[in-house]
Amino acid sequence: MKKKKRRLKRKLFLLIIFLLVIGVLIGCYFFFKTDRVSFDFSFLSQSLEDTEEKIASEETKQKEEEEKKKLEEEAAKDNGYGVEIPGPTYIKGILIVNKTYALPDGYATGNDPTALSALRELQAGASSAGYSIPLLSGFRSHQKQTELYNRYVARDGKDAADTYSARPGHSEHETGLTFDIGAVDDNYGETPAGKWLASHAHEYGFIIRYPKGKEDITKYQYEPWHVRYVGVEHATNMYENDLTLEEYLGIA
Ligand SMILES: [Zn+2]
Repeated sequence: MKKKKRRLKRKLFLLIIFLLVIGVLIGCYFFFKTDRVSFDFSFLSQSLEDTEEKIASEETKQKEEEEKKKLEEEAAKDNGYGVEIPGPTYIKGILIVNKTYALPDGYATGNDPTALSALRELQAGASSAGYSIPLLSGFRSHQKQTELYNRYVARDGKDAADTYSARPGHSEHETGLTFDIGAVDDNYGETPAGKWLASHAHEYGFIIRYPKGKEDITKYQYEPWHVRYVGVEHATNMYENDLTLEEYLGIA
């Protein structure tokens, strides 16, 4: 009996040794593969970082939306003006001038030669289609625009003047890229010449800058006679997709 007990004790002892060795081996395994262990935790911290980033980007987005709303509210207070962005500002290589985007005094000194020669081609095109589209008004200096605007304000009041005349520094006519052609008449778009102009201007690089139904975007009443030179590619793109310049440049 004593011998059997001793053998059992020995077996137990060997088992404990065996288990200890296994334990040490497992310990070593994790000790030397720490990167593997930490990988599991880094996954956790990674997802935490992602969440933080997500929250941060949402906060930025919210801030941007608030900023935009504030700008719109400011603009709505003052007939579409409001916070002025001093220029000249180019987006997609296109000069933008509207009630928000201003132009410095003396930006241009006359009609842009490229725009003017494109206009001559447009007039020739109209002529061969049987229409006469005369040039009525092109480049206007800051000084001239000031006089014009002040005269309209004196005649119709500021609110009315702001719907059809630009404040100095905000007129496209100060760019030298804009022309009033055909007839300054609300019904010009319904005349054969006006219809021809609306559907062919883009072929010469021009857009009808203030189209019908887009007054909320352009902040101007419909002007079928006011064309702006942007080049054939951009003009065609805007014409085919029925976009105002503001929409096309992503600032509507
Ligand atoms: Zn005009």
